[in-house]
Amino acid sequence: MARRREGNGGSPEICSRRREEAEGSVRRVIRLLTSAATGWVVAWLCGCAAWGAEGTHALSGETMGTTWSVKFRGGEVSPQRRDGHRDGVQAELDRLEAQMSDYRADSVVSRFNRGRGTNWFAVPGETARVVREALEISRRTDGAFDITVAPLVALWGFGPRRKTGVVPPDAAIAAARARVGWRHLEVRETTAGVDETGAMGAALRKGIPDLEIDLGGIAKGFAADAVSELLWRRGVTNHLVGIGGDLRARGAGPAGEGWRVGIERPAVAPAVVERVVSLRDQAVSTSGNYRNFFTVGGKRYGHIIDPRTGWPVSAGVLSVSVVAKSGTWADALATGLLVLGEAAAVRVAEREGVGMVLVRGDGATREWLRE
Ligand code: AMP
Ligand code: MG
Repeated sequence: MARRREGNGGSPEICSRRREEAEGSVRRVIRLLTSAATGWVVAWLCGCAAWGAEGTHALSGETMGTTWSVKFRGGEVSPQRRDGHRDGVQAELDRLEAQMSDYRADSVVSRFNRGRGTNWFAVPGETARVVREALEISRRTDGAFDITVAPLVALWGFGPRRKTGVVPPDAAIAAARARVGWRHLEVRETTAGVDETGAMGAALRKGIPDLEIDLGGIAKGFAADAVSELLWRRGVTNHLVGIGGDLRARGAGPAGEGWRVGIERPAVAPAVVERVVSLRDQAVSTSGNYRNFFTVGGKRYGHIIDPRTGWPVSAGVLSVSVVAKSGTWADALATGLLVLGEAAAVRVAEREGVGMVLVRGDGATREWLRE
């Protein structure tokens, strides 16, 4: 039986849960980064506590096929200053989206993917950084998290050129798997010096010509960190950033107890808050295969693929929420731990020192959270 936890009483400020597009009023023409058809509906649709406590301000907009929100604490803020923050955040997100979206043919990632060369390919510093972090998480999850999974995501019909649900033939899965592997991807950051052609600067390199990358499992968490950094530089030091279901907090929260965030039980309506966590300088992300999937012969096939088998992750684990130091890590680890399954996920979460709430296919919940 699932344990039902109400947290520390009262309602959380914001919820970490992904919801399908149809549930919210936010429908977008361009959908990016999450290859899943799940646009994420943001926190304030979660029926969580109302904002507007004195001195708590809210900003919002759209990015990466979903909505973003910022709550921040501060005294009087002039409309001009508020608009300045809003525009600054939007510009930052637009910039990252233009690099990392695989839904835009002109993005840096799309151009890298189209190329079949194996020379260094110059990229902006942020793209190099998110790839470096992705490769590190691949190493730490034994390849369960792997951004080179793109050909498999496309083959199963969850990529930008979305197909209707069909189980691909074994030969096609084997062919796509041959193009996957994080060890075939190299990254160079600005500090790495001059390469053999005399060029320098941030760059990526394919070890095999038809390697492609998909940042859908990490980019929103990375973007939440970037927005948090931006707000910090603008002197907004007590804030909560949400990009879809990927949340990043800083500071002591509205009442000095951190930013209270609800982790919702997957696949139930109306939403039930499974657990409330208080975030300070932390982030939380949730991954699940229960929203974006197709069914064939009574079996579900979801958008998170195990790169080691080439098949969608089985329904043994419904969702994984990770509480970590950064949005990048929370986002990527949530995806990776879902792929690993319960036993290995627990081992990795403990080793990496992150909190985890895991909901099993049978509905039972297990949590490893530090208070
Ligand atoms: P998330 O919602 O953060 O769990 O990310 C899910 C998205 O990450 C999918 O829609 C794919 O675009 C991508 N993805 C799928 N499987 C993997 C994987 N094993 N490792 C990394 N990214 C993946
Ligand atoms: Mg993720």
